[in-house]
Parts: sequence; structure tokens; C-alpha cells
Amino acid sequence: MLPGPARAEEETSSEAVARKAEAARAVLETAARWGLAQPPLPAPPSPASRPALSAAQGVKLADGLPPVVYRVPTEERIVFLTVDDGAEKDPEFNRMAAELGVPLSTFVADYLARSDYGYFRRFAAQGDAVNNHTVNHRNLKLLGYATQREEICRQQDQLEEQIGIRPRLFRPPYGEYNEDTLRAAASCGIEAVPLWNEEAFPDRIEYRYEDRRLHPGDIILTHFRGADLWSGSMPDLLRRVVDEVTAQGFALARLDDYL
Ligand SMILES: [Zn+2]
Repeated sequence: MLPGPARAEEETSSEAVARKAEAARAVLETAARWGLAQPPLPAPPSPASRPALSAAQGVKLADGLPPVVYRVPTEERIVFLTVDDGAEKDPEFNRMAAELGVPLSTFVADYLARSDYGYFRRFAAQGDAVNNHTVNHRNLKLLGYATQREEICRQQDQLEEQIGIRPRLFRPPYGEYNEDTLRAAASCGIEAVPLWNEEAFPDRIEYRYEDRRLHPGDIILTHFRGADLWSGSMPDLLRRVVDEVTAQGFALARLDDYL
């Protein structure tokens, strides 16, 4: 018979093994319940501080202006999911992302979100960022500096009032911007302008590059849209994204921890 302390240690480690097995079973069950082919890969721990952006493929840097980023420079096999606009407010999407532990970053336009900011507050409460996508979702390139600034700064104010946060990230509607946009965004407190390399739909992913593959640090765009606007629901969309990301050996990470 083993002396007391060693025996206690042995019990502790077998309890730990049981706990781990139970956790793994729960992850598999959750993935199966949401119809995923396999559970999402866990993201590596977020960096202690946001890495400094250097000139790289997928990063446009100009003095004194927020960087425009299509791909975050990283060696890790991570990609980032961003969800724009705010028309469809499906609580299942919210719940699915939370249960799977899949981080995402939202870019919210006031004219679509204002009917129910409570929906976006729930994302913020579960650790997902709510970022700026202007008040009226106009093509900023067609507007003068002052109007662009109003579109961006007023949405900063609105998100602060409604969600309690003043975003650091801003995405121009349609990905259309000019130097005035970046100057205006900087004056509203914006630090970076993420665009995207892939766009996700419930039935497919469209790639910017011909290799049709995800690359470390790629930013994926999708939208809050209902089945009336595309061929599926928001959970269908998230299932498509997670399955594709996992099949290519990537994990979804929090954009706001890297940018
Ligand atoms: Zn948009």
C-alpha cells in the first residue's frame, strides 16, 4: 500500500484526467449540437500587448494615419472573423458563438443597429468587440472631410452611449476610403482600419487571392444577414466559417487583441 501523500497525489491526478476527459466530451457534444464537422481549434493565448505593425503584405502604413490592414502579420495559424452592419439580430448566432468559444469582432452601423442595441451589448458582455462602421453606411469616398468625420465620430459617440465603449477599430462601408477617411477616423480616436481578405456566406467563402486558402492573420468579413438575403441563417454562416477554418488547420482569434 502506498504511503498517504503519494496516494493522495495519485487520486488528484486521476481526478484531473477525469476532468479533462469530461471537458473534451463537452467540447465534442457542443460542436455536434451545432452541427460542426469537428470542434474549433483553440486559439493560442493572446499576446500580452498588441504587436507593433510593420510594413508587410496586407498592411498599408502611412505617417500619422491609422494603418489599413487586410492581414495581421503573425506566424500563428490564426485568422479573425469580423461581422458587419447589424440588420439581422439572431439570438442563436450570439449563443452559438458563445457556446463554441469562437471570438468575433463586430462592426456596427447605427442606422441598422439602433432598433436594438441590446443585441450588440450581449456581444460586448461575452467579450466580443463592438466596433465602428459609421452612422449611415454611406460610401465615404463620395463625401467631403467634414461629413466623413461626422459619420465616424457620431458613431463613436453613439457606441459609447449605447454599449459603453469607444472603439479603437473602424471599418469603412464597402471597404471604400480615401486619405480624408483615415484623417477623420484618427481625429475620432480610431487606431486601425481592418479590411478583409476573405468574405464568408452561409454556402461559401470567397477568397481575394487565387490560391483560395486562408493565410496566418487573414481577416474574414461577413455580415449580420437573415435567410431572406442569403441562402441560410446566421448559425449556418458560422458553421460554414468554423468548419472551413478548422479544416484548414486554423483557429479563430480575437482581432482586437492583435490590432
Ligand atoms: Zn457594411
